[in-house]
Amino acid sequence: MFTLCVLVVGMFAFWFLCSTNYRLTGVPVLNYHQVNDKFKTVLTMTPKNFDAQMKYLHDHDYHSITQAEFNAYMSGEGDLPDRPVMITFDDGYVDNYEHAYPIMKKYGYRGTIFLIMNLMNKPGYLTWDMVKKMSDDGMEFGSHTLSHKPLTSFDEAGLRHELRDSKTYIEKKTGKPCTFIAFPEGKFNDQVMEETKAAGYKYAFTVETGRDFPWDDHYDLDRVAMFEGPISFEHFRFRLTFSAFSAFLWKTHKYLENIEMTKVLAKHIPQP
Ligand SMILES: [Zn+2]
Repeated sequence: MFTLCVLVVGMFAFWFLCSTNYRLTGVPVLNYHQVNDKFKTVLTMTPKNFDAQMKYLHDHDYHSITQAEFNAYMSGEGDLPDRPVMITFDDGYVDNYEHAYPIMKKYGYRGTIFLIMNLMNKPGYLTWDMVKKMSDDGMEFGSHTLSHKPLTSFDEAGLRHELRDSKTYIEKKTGKPCTFIAFPEGKFNDQVMEETKAAGYKYAFTVETGRDFPWDDHYDLDRVAMFEGPISFEHFRFRLTFSAFSAFLWKTHKYLENIEMTKVLAKHIPQP
């Protein structure tokens, strides 16, 4: 009897954690950084690997959703296509334009790039011309602040400056509202969340692992990391398909790590 119970619970957990039904397990928001052959850092993915990932999404009927679709889902005002996925990039690297964007376009996908104002037009980063061109073609943008310093390190005036001026700048350059932000280094606190909302943003992403549900705090949204490499194709497939399970492990790891008594246990919990 006991064995049967374990089996049933196990099967249910497996079915639930691996489900691609977004109503059950939430929407995965993929988080990329660089796509190029030049560097080999934790943030870099090769164009070949990125292409294979987009092809996988395409071949398995995933639909890349827009900010408006994400908003409709999160506010309970609309349904999403089956197997929704939101594709995001942090920092605004020039390779997003050179490699990621054409590859995504090939498969009919669009995504959101979070820009750092002080690095725009600098070597290695996007120019405003590239942003405008992509924006006119359906790519979307969000703020990654002015300086990319953690928002928790600013006083109130500094915080408002980072949040509001970056928003205004992006809106001026793209001619479209900027209501999404990714917190630099994923760092935030209550004050950051309040000021972000007051500045007019609707959604804020962190770098915590997980999928997003309408009832989640809209200023503390998880993503599925496609960095901290090397991200092989198998990593990608695991994190995408099993992101509910992967998030469970990441969160358990973090929870145990934060308590002195259970710290030693944390290292036994993998973060796949
Ligand atoms: Zn960043």
